[in-house]
Amino acid sequence: MAAASAPAPRVGRGLELAEIVRTHGTAYRQTHPLARAQRRALHAIATCRTAALGGHRDTCDTCGAVQISYNSCRNRHCPKCQTLAKERWLHARRAELLPVEYFHLVFTLPHTLTPLAQGNSNDRLLSLDDGIVRFRWKDYTDGNRLKVMALDAAEFLRRFLLHVVPDGFVRIRHFGLLANRTRHAKLARCRELLAPSPVPAVPLRESLPALMLRLTGLDIARCVVCQQGPLRRTEILAPTPDPPRLVALLNTS
Ligand SMILES: [Zn+2]
Ligand SMILES: [Zn+2]
Repeated sequence: MAAASAPAPRVGRGLELAEIVRTHGTAYRQTHPLARAQRRALHAIATCRTAALGGHRDTCDTCGAVQISYNSCRNRHCPKCQTLAKERWLHARRAELLPVEYFHLVFTLPHTLTPLAQGNSNDRLLSLDDGIVRFRWKDYTDGNRLKVMALDAAEFLRRFLLHVVPDGFVRIRHFGLLANRTRHAKLARCRELLAPSPVPAVPLRESLPALMLRLTGLDIARCVVCQQGPLRRTEILAPTPDPPRLVALLNTS
């Protein structure tokens, strides 16, 4: 384990936004005024799937192996929580599609934000070394070439936090047929008018194990040791009061 005063450089796969937040977030918060949603996003990202959020212990019915899982933060800015949230969102939108042609309208972000809009994902992070974050980004203005950008950690966090939407703000606002209050009734009426065929049943919300199995082929309801036994919830772990930094050290072994 690295000494707290001189953290070892983190290079290659496995570097997470959470680690950058844990290492540099405290100093950043002390020197930059943050909106509530930004503070909450940093805290959520730092504590996601650590003992700080509590969790549960599962025991395999077949081999007795014990598995500990910590809770997710479910913050929409957290890269660990984004994939599942995005998949659920897409699933819900697909259910709304009408049997007609759609236009796909694309607009561009200000150029300076492009690298970070793409960099807002753990997959693109390359290294955190001596306070410098390096990450991959695709330069659309240069033939989609993959490039590496190096930013001071504070500047990286500042740009990341530009993407944190304020409380009560939605990124997508629906109008017309898709306006929230009347969407269900209006889409049903459209389907009636467009096609005499039966209205498709509203798909049920997939359970987390079913969603994970479909996306990754991984059956999280089964024991990872013997690959057979179903897991039984044997203990609920309460959130620990430990600060995220301590939790991070405990969980990087
Ligand atoms: Zn999360
Ligand atoms: Zn087992």
